[in-house]
Amino acid sequence: MRTEQKKGDKGERVFTGVVGAAGVAIGSAHVCETGALQVPEYRVPKSKIAAEVKRFQSALQRSQRQLTKLKTKSQSLRDAAAEEIGYLLDAHLLMLTGSRLVRGVEETIATKGINAEAAVLSVISEVARGFESLPDPYMAARADDVREVGARLVRNLTETPFQGFSHLQPGTILIAEELSPADAALIDPATVGGFATVLGGAEGHTAIMARSFGIPAVFGASGLIGGVKTGETVIVDGTSGRIIVSPARETLKDYEARRQALLRERRQLDRLTNLPSQTVDGTRIGLQANLELPREVDSALAMGAEGIGLLRTEFMFMNRDTPPDEDEQYESLAALVAAMGGRPITVRTLDVGGEKLAYSLGEHLGEPVNPALGLRAIRLSLKQRKLFEAQLAAILRAGAHGPLRILLPLIASTSEIRQVREIMGRVSRRLKRRKVAIADPLPPLGVMIEVPGAALAADALAAHADFFAIGTNDLTMYTLAIDRADEQVAHLYNPLHPGVLRLIQFAVQAGLRARIPVSVCGEIAGDPRYTALLLGLGVRDLSMASPCLARIKQRIRQIDIAAASMRAEIIMSQADTGRIAALLDDFNALA
Ligand code: PEP
Ligand code: MG
Repeated sequence: MRTEQKKGDKGERVFTGVVGAAGVAIGSAHVCETGALQVPEYRVPKSKIAAEVKRFQSALQRSQRQLTKLKTKSQSLRDAAAEEIGYLLDAHLLMLTGSRLVRGVEETIATKGINAEAAVLSVISEVARGFESLPDPYMAARADDVREVGARLVRNLTETPFQGFSHLQPGTILIAEELSPADAALIDPATVGGFATVLGGAEGHTAIMARSFGIPAVFGASGLIGGVKTGETVIVDGTSGRIIVSPARETLKDYEARRQALLRERRQLDRLTNLPSQTVDGTRIGLQANLELPREVDSALAMGAEGIGLLRTEFMFMNRDTPPDEDEQYESLAALVAAMGGRPITVRTLDVGGEKLAYSLGEHLGEPVNPALGLRAIRLSLKQRKLFEAQLAAILRAGAHGPLRILLPLIASTSEIRQVREIMGRVSRRLKRRKVAIADPLPPLGVMIEVPGAALAADALAAHADFFAIGTNDLTMYTLAIDRADEQVAHLYNPLHPGVLRLIQFAVQAGLRARIPVSVCGEIAGDPRYTALLLGLGVRDLSMASPCLARIKQRIRQIDIAAASMRAEIIMSQADTGRIAALLDDFNALA
């Protein structure tokens, strides 16, 4: 990715990143600071000192990885800026490598018997005071760097998201080094108009949240931190992946016109809300919404969702110290069922792990060697039975009030489905014995097809599952070995790769042969570029971020299934991704 940073007339500066969520936002910048953290303090018994030091070392390694990543990114800046930021990051890295600071924290944990966060705070204050007392003003100013490094360590220890964004003025543009999915869950679209970050890829969950909220976002833009000040006017062009800081008058005028044009287009699309979702030849296509937060339900309904095709329950576990218990989960789900007024909801069980971390589950997740391949999603649920049983019980109870389906994430084998059926049977019997109302009959139990091995074994899985939901985000990531949240390889992430398409086709056909419902709920379901191809492959149900629903319906209403199937057949005989893209784009251009 190329980063352009030019100082033009009237201080206009342009930064370039990858497109996260389309649209144009214009507003005042709020630069998220990593400092000012709440630091918990408690005593650590002798028997747990070694584990506490290990916890500190994990946070240390994570901090080093972040700084190295930032350093790599900064090298794409223009010379002077690259050098300046490079020095700073090197200095921070040095402070975290075999330094007095690191040794001091380890010793403080051991000798004082206190937690790692409190030890970091104590050592940082001491080192910073040392710098401040130096007569050389340059050296004295290094105290700020020390505090910044300390804040990074504490943030990684506590996995604290950025402070709530509730105090912001409407239309604020957030500028951050990185926003985790948990940070994004705190964003209120009523106050945040758009955001831009230095790290993060377009297919990660933070990008997905931005698209769900309908707020423009750009990721992976080098130089933003230090290049933008809180209060400056910023344009986030989520369509081209540009961030324009302190724009010239003509630029602002141009973007204001673009923003108005987009609003007009939105109003046109809104008119489709009450029209049927069917192709030219009259084939009905189910259109449902993906939901991260129950509070999104009203806008999903307003935008025409026929149901919730994917409820990402992991967000209920984020930004809190302890996981929600069965009753709390039940209350949230029952409220959602009531809000949906008889429309179906597909509740996915906890899909935590990978880039989706919830510190309420920290003790269960451990420190995986490779988070994308580690103890996550269904694997965690099958290991942490109490956690899983509480969630299943809550879902079964909510299912007494309206139509629910249960969806299992990251399934790789039939034995996982069998185990879940067994657990579900036990949980339901226990609830019935206690005379607690539950879904009767038990809800359909489906699986995500998002692991390449699952797609290849889809015929076997179809014999055990009641439905398939194809998760093309992870399916693309695992098939191509591209981290979906890493902006450095974002250009290689491509669901049109023939390997990915063949797996999708295989899974769809296996599902259809077994006569079980098959939907697609990955991000391509909400991108009109892919609609004809998915319909041509036999998909009849799509689930997506609510703001995409109207545009996809518009596209569906232009498609003839026979023509789409023929084009899909031609596409599936191709080996070259570029040729596939051209064949699809040509077909789409006929509309
Ligand atoms: C997917 O992987 O495509 C999916 C829908 O699940 P998530 O994006 O939550 O991983
Ligand atoms: Mg997934």
